[in-house]
Amino acid sequence: MVRILIEEMEDYAKENKIPIMLPDGICFLENYIKEHHIKKILELGTAIGYSAIRMALVSKDIQIVTIERDQERYQKAIENIKQANLQEQIQVFNQDIMDFQTEEQFDLIFIDAAKSQYVRFFEKFSSNLISGGAIISDNLNFHGYTKQEARIESKNLRQMVGKIRNYIEFLKENKEFKTIFIELGDGIGISEKL
Ligand code: SAH
Ligand code: MG
Repeated sequence: MVRILIEEMEDYAKENKIPIMLPDGICFLENYIKEHHIKKILELGTAIGYSAIRMALVSKDIQIVTIERDQERYQKAIENIKQANLQEQIQVFNQDIMDFQTEEQFDLIFIDAAKSQYVRFFEKFSSNLISGGAIISDNLNFHGYTKQEARIESKNLRQMVGKIRNYIEFLKENKEFKTIFIELGDGIGISEKL
């Protein structure tokens, strides 16, 4: 049942150009959650609920709070979560991440939203992470552009890539976190809080 829903979501994402996690990236995330016995997850960027559903399916003990500002995607996420019968495990908020406030503590924060704001997201929520917990960031390769040496022609793209490079530097220099970068999906960073 859920298998079919997941495949339908993958097709829907493809047709509607919704950037859900790539297969090896989502598998990595599922394994990380299993191995580290993660129970409370904050996800920034729900889209249609694909990654939230896959993470929730790892174990019934997992609770996820996830945020999406786009009204249509939010509605779709709500529908999908209901179909997967995961309403008890996944809570979706339809608002901008920068307006979202929480006192809760999480053992994993997954950042997968507007790439230009990763430093702000990281700083806003790092106090909501338990020590020993991790912030996982998706799309650090930005479709390969982050590592491209040649000058990027489009100004918008150049600025975006600059912001991601800046975020990678920020992670490398951050003394409160130990970050490793892995070449899976579109490039993932795992920053463990020391
Ligand atoms: N994690 C999802 C994919 C998320 S795509 C998955 O793998 O299934 C990124 C989403 O973040 C988009 O739907 C976009 O609307 C949302 N987003 C980007 N910036 C945001 C912000 N500042 N606040 C809330 N949502 C945001
Ligand atoms: Mg992504």
